[in-house]
Amino acid sequence: MAKTRYIFITGGVLSSLGKGIAAASIGNILESYGYTIAMLKLDPYLNVDPGTMSPFQHGEVFVTEDGAETDLDLGHYERFTTTRTSQKSNWTAGRIYEKVIQKERRGDFLGKTVQVIPHVTDEIKVAVFEAGKGADVVLVEIGGTVGDIESLPFLEAIRQIGLELEEEQVLYVHLTLVPFIKTAGELKTKPTQHSVKALQEIGIQPDILLCRAETPIPSEIKRKIALFANLKEEAVVSAVDVKNIYEIPLIYRKEGLDAIILKKLQLKGGRSSIVEWEKWVKRSKGLSKEVTIAIVGKYVSHSDAYKSLFEALFHAGAANNVRVRLELIDSDSLTEKEPKDVFRAVHGILVPGGFGIRGIDGMIRAVEYARTRGIPYFGICLGMQVATIEFVRNVLKLAAAHSSEFDARTPHKVFLKLRELMNVEEMGHNMRLGAYSCILKKKSLAYRIYQQEKISERHRHRYEFNPEFEYMLENKGMRVSGKNPERNLVEIVELSSHPWFLGCQFHPEFKSRPLQPHPLFVSFIEHAKRHRGRS
Ligand code: GLN
Repeated sequence: MAKTRYIFITGGVLSSLGKGIAAASIGNILESYGYTIAMLKLDPYLNVDPGTMSPFQHGEVFVTEDGAETDLDLGHYERFTTTRTSQKSNWTAGRIYEKVIQKERRGDFLGKTVQVIPHVTDEIKVAVFEAGKGADVVLVEIGGTVGDIESLPFLEAIRQIGLELEEEQVLYVHLTLVPFIKTAGELKTKPTQHSVKALQEIGIQPDILLCRAETPIPSEIKRKIALFANLKEEAVVSAVDVKNIYEIPLIYRKEGLDAIILKKLQLKGGRSSIVEWEKWVKRSKGLSKEVTIAIVGKYVSHSDAYKSLFEALFHAGAANNVRVRLELIDSDSLTEKEPKDVFRAVHGILVPGGFGIRGIDGMIRAVEYARTRGIPYFGICLGMQVATIEFVRNVLKLAAAHSSEFDARTPHKVFLKLRELMNVEEMGHNMRLGAYSCILKKKSLAYRIYQQEKISERHRHRYEFNPEFEYMLENKGMRVSGKNPERNLVEIVELSSHPWFLGCQFHPEFKSRPLQPHPLFVSFIEHAKRHRGRS
């Protein structure tokens, strides 16, 4: 078997330059040449995983098939490439240290002093090699910015990998910013120079500089950067700002990035298949008609919190030839405002996932409005729970109905902790995480959409539908149309007498791809389009 290649992607100058998308785009390019890839992210913070962090702080928690709670960049990896990420694909400093300390307590180090170098760096290297097993090329993104104290052990580990492997096996890509300073009327290279210097000081010579800039960087500026960075001019690549992130792999190719990468890694080029991707990008850029979807949630002020959701809506829009305009509505605000004023010009309402009681009443009002006015409604996880609670309260007339997450003493618990439901003390991890299968009832909206009986979707929640309500709900027109066969857990509810009303306990947004848009989102947008036609 050919030797595995490693591409390390670091970032300089400042955060939020889009390192994850850059890494994903390089992965996309390599796959188009027929290479198998693996992707992983190394995050310098000390939380063991982002599962415990607030979405306001850290953005979305991306959930993998095997139930890892990971950084949102893994979502980009899955959307831009065919890789499936897993527990192996995201390592934080906390998780690395946890492993080292467990070994130390077990006595594995045989009385030695345990140190960052070599013990922590060795553990980082193990994580990189494990994640990359069997792939032609492994792409490793290092979180944070070069110069941060926290990222040093990771940079040291990747420096050592460069030393241990052969020249053509390792490539370092550094993403920086070349700002345009209005008052000077110039592009400035100094921040990039400093950032490259910081990298060189710790022993890493970048092979490629990806320079974020508002406009393409002219040749003389590239030459200047190249000189200071100890590189050839061709290794300085402009990464121009774009509206549509899916265009980035195409832009990189135009800049010749594919040729430089293949050359340094001594990989054959040959024909690459990008026709489908190119076509999709072209179509998604030319959408003229619009539908408006209201997203009623708690984290709307922080758009990173709903990354996969927004992408899934975009994919579904492209599939329906419409641009999806998002109206972000803080669910809290709905307790003061009239729903009819807020939703006057929307063609679909979506309540996404979330935790904690804040904003729940507003979400319930949004559901009631969608249900009674025939507006397409899509409830995801928490959005499915509030849709059910609204129905129990307003149709079954049990006004105190709630989830035990929000009211532990209600006599009508529509959602319960898995533990209470199964009547056992411990159920392992207290969240249901990762992929679970679901069997759909024939003659349901869900079945019509998926066109198959058995599906599998990813979960991240603690509370489950209380089966005592199933019969009562069905009697009044809310159907349970999907269940997990292993544990008989309710996964999907829908209203038969409504144009489009569906709530799912899982997160379909994690599985939507540009070229394989998720069927639930596609159907939702299709009906929002119809609703626009009617209204
Ligand atoms: N808070 C709810 C639960 O834990 C919903 C979680 C979610 O929307 N991801 O069950």
